Amino acid sequence: MKWSGLKYLVVGAGLWGGVIAERIASVLGEPVVVLERRKHTGGNCHSFVDRRTGIECHAYGTHVFHTGIQRVWEYINRFAHFTSYRHKVLTEYRGRIYQMPISLPTINSFYGLNLRPYEVEDFILREAGGASPAAPCGQPANLEEKAVSLVGRPLYEAFIKGYTQKQWGRDPRDLPAEIINRLPVRANYNTDYFSDPWQGMPESGYAGLFEALLRHPKIQVELGVSWKDVADQVPASCRIFYSGPLDEFFDYALGALEWRGLRFENRLEPYRDVQGTAVLNQADGDVPFTRTHEYKHLHPERGAQGEQSILTREYPRAFSRGDEPYYPVNTPENERLMGLYRERLASGHPNMIAGGRLGGFRYMDMDKTIDFALSVFAGL
Ligand SMILES: Cc1cc2nc3c(=O)[nH]c(=O)nc-3n(C[C@H](O)[C@H](O)[C@H](O)COP(=O)(O)OP(=O)(O)OC[C@H]3O[C@@H](n4cnc5c(N)ncnc54)[C@H](O)[C@@H]3O)c2cc1C
Repeated sequence: MKWSGLKYLVVGAGLWGGVIAERIASVLGEPVVVLERRKHTGGNCHSFVDRRTGIECHAYGTHVFHTGIQRVWEYINRFAHFTSYRHKVLTEYRGRIYQMPISLPTINSFYGLNLRPYEVEDFILREAGGASPAAPCGQPANLEEKAVSLVGRPLYEAFIKGYTQKQWGRDPRDLPAEIINRLPVRANYNTDYFSDPWQGMPESGYAGLFEALLRHPKIQVELGVSWKDVADQVPASCRIFYSGPLDEFFDYALGALEWRGLRFENRLEPYRDVQGTAVLNQADGDVPFTRTHEYKHLHPERGAQGEQSILTREYPRAFSRGDEPYYPVNTPENERLMGLYRERLASGHPNMIAGGRLGGFRYMDMDKTIDFALSVFAGL
């Protein structure tokens, strides 16, 4: 690596770092080095083709692109052609399959009814009002009270309680009500999971998208290199865009931020199609995984893709230092700690900007991550 005179360094070859590097090279015309400690670019969006089956697999769980932000859609389309895939999610509860998010077919099938769209709102209001101890008076004190006040206890117990408990490893009564603002209940048969106007999968996978994003001759990507490996060689004047966790950057000097971990278990199945859809949620609290991914369904334009299929079960788990961080646990204590790390960064490292999902300690969909990166670049 040539450090002398280097003006721009990006740590992390995920979407946030990739977009910033691309802008620096294409718009400013400046050389930029991108360090990535993994052996691949793409961060958590990374996908690869399984050699045995030819199926495009997502290394860190299903990633479907969707956005309502026009500048993001226009930007990302320069680097990939997107298919017309529309994501559907089903959920299994006590051996039966239901549509997600909760919609008219979910309600009718769950309650054994035949409601019409115009009857749904009143029905849900009656369910919620009759069942919630918290709804009529004051603010809900926790996630359970909030969810029950929005959809009623039976739907909450079936589709939200067990899933949430597994996802966060906590009883929903011990989780803040603010985790959910609203629970979408659709009074129709629309089966799309996302309602954004622009949706799809990159035709050549995320590997193809990142290959195009980082192709610029002024971008030099260094795989298998961590920030700590080079920190003492980087010129003091270099501007650094850091997309790793801030507690790790400061050697956990003020304490560790809390994340939720995941474990993925892959299985090769001797069937052309096992679950008939890309993502099947598991709502039962006593089944330890939350989702099963069948990746071949993300690319229907590629046909049957052989006589076998790959299924991946997603198991939430407690996070320990050194694990892959997945979901930030945004409790007030963690937010306070993150605030202290931000202050340390601002006072001690004026040439560094931390961002992305890790550096920002925020869950962000891909489109929000791109938007964030475009805004950071615009502010340079
Ligand atoms: C399970 C799951 C499913 C998701 N599904 C979707 C979806 O369907 N649709 C959607 O829009 N969004 C989805 N997301 C969100 C999506 O993953 C993020 O928006 C995106 O990955 C954020 O990109 P990033 O660059 O901020 O972080 P990352 O993708 O994590 O990239 C950061 C990179 O920095 C590297 N790095 C960190 N520290 C260092 C260091 N010290 N030195 C060198 N390299 C370092 C890491 O190895 C990593 O490659 C999902 C997220 C999760 C957790």
